Amino acid sequence: MRTPFYALVVVTNQSGVARGYFPETALTAVEQRLRSLLPAPLQGFYYCPHAPQGNIPAYVQTCDCRKPAPGLLLRAAAEHGIDLECSWMIGDILNDVEAGHQAGCRSILIDNGSQTEWVLTPRRVPDFKAIDLSLAADYILQTDTHAAKQSNPTLAQPH
Ligand SMILES: [Zn+2]
Repeated sequence: MRTPFYALVVVTNQSGVARGYFPETALTAVEQRLRSLLPAPLQGFYYCPHAPQGNIPAYVQTCDCRKPAPGLLLRAAAEHGIDLECSWMIGDILNDVEAGHQAGCRSILIDNGSQTEWVLTPRRVPDFKAIDLSLAADYILQTDTHAAKQSNPTLAQPH
């Protein structure tokens, strides 16, 4: 059986740039650190440096990339030819879940206590909740493998 191929992309709100906590250039080190920690190659690292309120005028704006807006996901999809409907958004707050749904992905919430305000609108209801990334990955593989069998039953038949 073929293992589904996934492009791994990180999308992150970094409003600390707009607030003046650190320069945008500091995010290069964050990206490098992430790449060194992740067990699989990272196809893309996208960040939103903006904030509706901040101290650095160039970054103070209401943008379309700050999650829960889907801008970063749409950009990643366009630049890497990613099919969003076949994709999964994994995050640890409901803004991530909502961004995923707005972009047309399925969304998984890593329920590690980061989310403290449970304001649930339909877009903010995760498709699945996992206690860590590894269980989220298991769920994705299980779901997509099952879907592949359903759409192509011959895969499951012995020769
Ligand atoms: Zn932005």
